[in-house]
Amino acid sequence: MQEDSSEKTSDKSEEDDWHLYANADYGAAESLEKEPVKEDNTVDEEWFDGDDFYHEGSSIDWESPPCPAPLGIAHVIKIGVCDHCLHRIGGRRTESLGFEGGASLRKEAFSRDSELSNFEVPELCPLCENLFDDVGNIADRIIETLEGVQFKSMQLGIHLPKDLAQSEDSIRTKHGSQGSKPLKASFALAIQSEMLIRMPEIAFVKEYPDIMVTVDALTLRVDTDVRPVFIYGRYEKLVRGIPQTRWPCRSCRGRGDGCESCEGTGLQYRESVQDIIGDPVKETLIASDTSFHGMGREDIDVRCLGSGRPFVLEIKNPKIRNEELSVIEGKINSNNPDKVRVNSLRWCQKKEVSRVKETRSEKSYTIRFKIENPPSEKEITEAIHSLSGIILDQETPKRVSHRRAAKTRKRKITSIADILIEGSEIQFSLRCEAGTYVKELVHSDEGRTTPSVKSVIDRECEVLWLDVNEIHAD
Ligand SMILES: [Zn+2]
Ligand SMILES: [Zn+2]
Repeated sequence: MQEDSSEKTSDKSEEDDWHLYANADYGAAESLEKEPVKEDNTVDEEWFDGDDFYHEGSSIDWESPPCPAPLGIAHVIKIGVCDHCLHRIGGRRTESLGFEGGASLRKEAFSRDSELSNFEVPELCPLCENLFDDVGNIADRIIETLEGVQFKSMQLGIHLPKDLAQSEDSIRTKHGSQGSKPLKASFALAIQSEMLIRMPEIAFVKEYPDIMVTVDALTLRVDTDVRPVFIYGRYEKLVRGIPQTRWPCRSCRGRGDGCESCEGTGLQYRESVQDIIGDPVKETLIASDTSFHGMGREDIDVRCLGSGRPFVLEIKNPKIRNEELSVIEGKINSNNPDKVRVNSLRWCQKKEVSRVKETRSEKSYTIRFKIENPPSEKEITEAIHSLSGIILDQETPKRVSHRRAAKTRKRKITSIADILIEGSEIQFSLRCEAGTYVKELVHSDEGRTTPSVKSVIDRECEVLWLDVNEIHAD
């Protein structure tokens, strides 16, 4: 019995990865923007007698102090900033924001200095390369891509070309008003505001969004990622012969369109607990796929009874995210009620996956086996009872040694009860520590488990079946 898979969670939290990526991206861009211009020590001793002097390697032109000074505003108008950027780095309060705010600053500046309007304005704003003109289109595209998808919250990530971020930063820090918002943050904010005009019911969040949107400022490509939803529950597996999760076909490994031996399904077993539970959920939430995360797993030929085994079902790309759990539970429990049933469903967060996978708990089992030349019932009963409360030495079983490191573990048998003897067949129930190999406790795995039922009754033991009666967790 391979209990409590100790394999490390291989699917490193996608969500966390996204956060890392999104934050690293922001962080990297910001640290880049904030990186001080390198000090040039060779100019320390120089005398200055002109209008310019060196300050941290860059010259400050006293003819154009930074915004919000009128000369500063005049300067950034001369270099051709767009209205949006003028408002952003102008450092002056205006009645309206964005383009309109910039336009009123420009008008003010023209009234102070009529010659300003004669400067030829370059086609592209040197600060944003006219990025802000595309905000409306981007919002349209986000909404278009999410057609038919239900969501309440969104998180936005922006990819800004490095050279644009750098040149914007150097102009803004030199000529812009102190504390004006960098391009990336302003661009993100502009898209958010535009989205909120169109969809006032949604919220922009910093964690656990329903949708993650990435906008590439260079190509204006919009990518949307519908985040998965998670349902916690417990399952009972009422029959033998069903694996917990999908098993790819041994011949074709589930690649392509499958093969003859799997009849094109790509699966070694047609049914799994994962799909009996996941298929109706996938259908109800109009999702693309599911992942199944169990609190350990039972072997294919082992049933899982009692209150069931805790699990988390991850539902990917759901178009619907707010279905009633009672409806979902009803659909699962009518899918294949003779084989798999669920209870205690609740919505949960991604972090519940690792909690469920890492939890180690005691379990109760019933096991039945066969022996040759049975001794007296009294001898059998006493021998089996002698194992109650002992600590086993279990070497990694032969049947799993190809995928587990060989080591000897100590596992406690907490209690033994309900010994039943029917001719040469014997059955008993036990409660034991997480990770105990129960079949091996009975047949000894060629002496790798000591002591064992085989060693205490001195007969070969052939295991007939095993049931998990209870998982003492949650
Ligand atoms: Zn601009
Ligand atoms: Zn196949």
